[in-house]
Amino acid sequence: MLRIDKLNFAYGDLKVLWDVDLEVHEGEIVTVVGANGAGKSTTLKNISRLVRPGSGTIRFLGQDLGRLQPHQVVEAGLIQVPEGRRIFPEMTVMENLRMGSYVKGTRGDRERNIAWVFELFPRLREREKQLGGTMSGGEQQMLAIARGLMGNPRLLLLDEPSLGLSPLLVKNIFDILTGINRQGVTILLVEQNVYQSLRISHRAYVMETGRVVLTGQGDELLANDHIRKAYLGM
Ligand code: ATP
Repeated sequence: MLRIDKLNFAYGDLKVLWDVDLEVHEGEIVTVVGANGAGKSTTLKNISRLVRPGSGTIRFLGQDLGRLQPHQVVEAGLIQVPEGRRIFPEMTVMENLRMGSYVKGTRGDRERNIAWVFELFPRLREREKQLGGTMSGGEQQMLAIARGLMGNPRLLLLDEPSLGLSPLLVKNIFDILTGINRQGVTILLVEQNVYQSLRISHRAYVMETGRVVLTGQGDELLANDHIRKAYLGM
């Protein structure tokens, strides 16, 4: 579904990605794990074209993303839930959700999608009229994911959905991601919560200082010595 070949990227003179290769197959949950500054977010930003891509190729459903404008990337079904949530604080929950369905071709699905995300996140239904900015961190994260789902993603990109959430909420969010995946949405996740994210992933990539150093199935990596020592403190 998504295939990245030899992606290199620099912010000005600072080179941050070195020959990154990564694949996501339809139906998978794939996670990119790694420490602060490893280049995980930058990889996602190259995919969703939030930055001008560096060298290498990124193909999605057979299309070269380098030839598409950012809005065309979204219309192709590749939707990013940004780090730090970035919901619209002065809009209500319902208004935020509606903003997610301005993607071309999705407006007709709006009512059905609202019903779907309310089923996934009953809390959002209860808080339908509340202003986004007054919601708790966990609720805002739910809203950001729900808003992404309103655009009918084929592939949902998530940057650190567990950031700043309590352990219980983190588990809750990851369980919901598993549920969304079972309903047919492929997921590419960037995470520092290595244990919880590997637990739900079919496959994962480990990035260190801008390079992919290890890849494998989620459960294989959870049992890997380097991962256990460097990321799980065992
Ligand atoms: P984190 O989890 O902390 O976001 P990350 O693995 O996602 O880490 P990136 O955000 O991709 O890492 O950052 C990779 C490197 O690029 C870091 O050294 C960071 O300081 C640098 N960097 C990130 N954004 C910019 C920017 N806009 N301008 C210059 N350098 C940047």
